[in-house]
Amino acid sequence: MISPDFIVRLPLFLTILTPISHIETDLQLIAHLADQREEENDHFKSFLANQDPVGIDLRVFALQAAITPQIDCRQCGNCCKTLMIEVTQPEAEQVAQLLGVESDQFVSENLEKGIGQRMIMNTMPCRFLEELSCTIYTDRFAGCREFPALHLPGFTARYFTTRMHYGRCPIIFNVLEALKKELSFFTPDLPVSV
Ligand code: SF4
Ligand code: SF4
Repeated sequence: MISPDFIVRLPLFLTILTPISHIETDLQLIAHLADQREEENDHFKSFLANQDPVGIDLRVFALQAAITPQIDCRQCGNCCKTLMIEVTQPEAEQVAQLLGVESDQFVSENLEKGIGQRMIMNTMPCRFLEELSCTIYTDRFAGCREFPALHLPGFTARYFTTRMHYGRCPIIFNVLEALKKELSFFTPDLPVSV
C-alpha cells in the first residue's frame, strides 16, 4: 500500500529528476576526493539531520534511479574487490550445493566469523570475482544484491554506513554529490565540490 507520506511528497519526487551533468567513475579520483571531502561529508551529516528524512529518501531514490544505469558495475567491481560480504547459513548451503561441496566444507574453507558471530567471506577480493564478473551471480548473497542500498528507505539514518563506501563506490559517490547540489549544500569554510 502506498503510504500517505509518499502521496504528499509525490510532487517533490516528480520535480527532482534533475539532469546529472557529469558522472565520475574514476576509482582513483573518487578515493582521492573522498579523502579531501571528509570534513565536508561530516558537515553534510549534520545538514541532513535537519532535513525531512522521507523527503531525503525520495530524492535519493530518484537520483539513484537516474545515476545507476549510467554506471557499469561490470567495469568496476570495486565492492567485490574491497568488501567482506556477510553470508547466512542458508546462503552458504545454497552456494555449497551449487559448487557440489558439503556445506561444512564450504563454510570452513570460505567463511570466517565477523562482528557478532556473523559469517563473512574470508577473502578480499571475493573469490567468486573473476575478471570483474561474479561467477555465482544468480546465487550471489543478499548483501551483494542490496549494495549500495540506495533504493532502501532510511538514507539519513544509514548515512554513516553509506559514507563509509563513498570513496569506493561510484554510484554512492555520484548520488551523494548530486544530492548535495540539489539541496544547495555548501560549507562556507570549505571549497565547494565540483
Ligand atoms: S559473491 Fe559475487 S557479487 Fe558478491 S562479492 Fe563475491 S563476486 Fe561480488
Ligand atoms: S555497486 Fe558500486 S562499487 Fe560495486 S561494482 Fe557497482 S559501482 Fe562499483
